[in-house]
Amino acid sequence: MRLTASAICGTDLHTIRGTLGPMEKGTILGHEGVGIVEEVGKEVRNFRPDDRVVMGSTIACGYCSYCRAGYYAQCDHANPNGPQAGTAFYGGPKDSGPFHGMQAERVRVPFANVNLVKVPEGVSDDQAILISDIFPTGYFGAEIADVCAGRTVAVFGCGPVGQFTIASAKLMGAGRVIAIDTIASRLEMARSQGAEVIDFNAEDPVKAIQEMTGGIGVDRCIDAVGVDANQPHSGPGKPSLAQRAQFKVEGKMVAPKTSPVGGNWEPGDAPSQVLQWMVEAVAKAGTLSIIGVYPETAKIFPIGAAMNRNLKINMGNCNHRRYIPKLLDLVRNGTVDPSKILTQVGPLTSALDAYKNFDKREDGWIKVELDPQPVPARAA
Ligand SMILES: [Zn+2]
Ligand SMILES: [Zn+2]
Repeated sequence: MRLTASAICGTDLHTIRGTLGPMEKGTILGHEGVGIVEEVGKEVRNFRPDDRVVMGSTIACGYCSYCRAGYYAQCDHANPNGPQAGTAFYGGPKDSGPFHGMQAERVRVPFANVNLVKVPEGVSDDQAILISDIFPTGYFGAEIADVCAGRTVAVFGCGPVGQFTIASAKLMGAGRVIAIDTIASRLEMARSQGAEVIDFNAEDPVKAIQEMTGGIGVDRCIDAVGVDANQPHSGPGKPSLAQRAQFKVEGKMVAPKTSPVGGNWEPGDAPSQVLQWMVEAVAKAGTLSIIGVYPETAKIFPIGAAMNRNLKINMGNCNHRRYIPKLLDLVRNGTVDPSKILTQVGPLTSALDAYKNFDKREDGWIKVELDPQPVPARAA
């Protein structure tokens, strides 16, 4: 593939910090890409050079029982470390393959007959790049939350995936969407999509939700934050969300540790603040959906409160390939314009600065597209 668009994702920040496990030195980062087919392997019967395509972030074989059931993220064959090794994806830690990623001029796509989807006429690169990962992930989050007509849905986290979760909940007919974050530009974008917004630093989100719902709570809660359930952007002297949070573990109140490198929440010792809030903000017998990324080492979930309130919990890595064709159609027919989420588009060579600004959650930095400089097609 010759890439014409790539992007930086929140997951890349975990990758570079090692939150998701160690990297193999030299692995190229990035798991979102749009481009042009340069060359196909002999088993690729459905694409040929010059086809314009988008790649899903996760890698699937297309023929195992999981892929056939639509659980592409649980494919038995794509991860060379074996069927129990976890989701295979581009530009990730050792355990995820590793596969070279898409913050590059070219990329090799395994099982290309399954992992490429043709971009229809009329869908731009700026639109298609968002269908590589974050739009499908948001859609998946709303789908596994069982959002349907009339439901009141709370979306925790208004980053890029959270924005698409809001859009997807609305597509599925949600009656009300409540969006929780603290960054002004992210809350503003959520509001412009019709969400009712809560700044969790200005008020207690659980209390606010109770008040907004007549004391019942919301029907569905979606975690679009994951392991980043703190504020690496909170600045010196200002405690992060994780630092402020206190949790009961084995009867003792403990504050979760924060990592010295990036201010990230260190998994394993306490539930994330977001999960705690969700369990408290959802109505009895409601449904929780978790699409924010957690490392396998994260162990503790507020199980007692969830069990005693008869909650349903669905979660996982997005099965990208399952949603990409449908979402491309929604974009082509004008139902959704995902490129509204893009706040920065720069050359691939500006990646280092883009990573820094995105990591700081600079106000106004929501989604960054990186464009490789046009590279000449390889001579046949
Ligand atoms: Zn991603
Ligand atoms: Zn498979």
